[in-house]
Amino acid sequence: MKWIYILPIGLVNPATLKYVAEEIPLKLNYRCKIMESIGEPSYAFEPKRGQYSSAKILREILNKAQAHPVSEDLIKILGIVDLDLCTPILTFVFGEAQLGGKAALISLRRLHQEYYGLPPNPPLLLKRAVKEALHELGHTFGLTHCLDPKCVMYFSNSVKNIDTKSDKFCDSCSILLSEKKPKVTE
Ligand SMILES: [Zn+2]
Ligand SMILES: [Zn+2]
Repeated sequence: MKWIYILPIGLVNPATLKYVAEEIPLKLNYRCKIMESIGEPSYAFEPKRGQYSSAKILREILNKAQAHPVSEDLIKILGIVDLDLCTPILTFVFGEAQLGGKAALISLRRLHQEYYGLPPNPPLLLKRAVKEALHELGHTFGLTHCLDPKCVMYFSNSVKNIDTKSDKFCDSCSILLSEKKPKVTE
């Protein structure tokens, strides 16, 4: 049995983790295990930006995967943070993943309505988190961005784009996904 491991990094609402862990298997056919949380990623803080380096956290997630005692049962690992992420060239990112690799990362920070000065909307936050989780995991299964604005692999640089797209892989992404996913017999 292969699992997608979910790694909370710093403080992350357990209800969000649970929801994401329950939704992913409906779209990717792998069940999820929530790992014990690791501490705040102070090593990734970029003082000039006031944000966290997405690449540094991704590396930490990969280290965690490699140190995993039973790594054979770990197909992918998805880190979840509630801190704002950046890259050297982008002002922010909702997430990052290794294309065709093991590790993915999403940030909840800009998925909260409160971030935009709006009243909290927990169901909307959960929907956005699932879409971003599936999107980044899609990259780890080798999928690149899709031009279909309804497909979960559509590139989002705003919550508006996230809300417009569905939580589903379009037909062509689904085909690619089934070709790229390793065959599991158990
Ligand atoms: Zn992407
Ligand atoms: Zn697609």
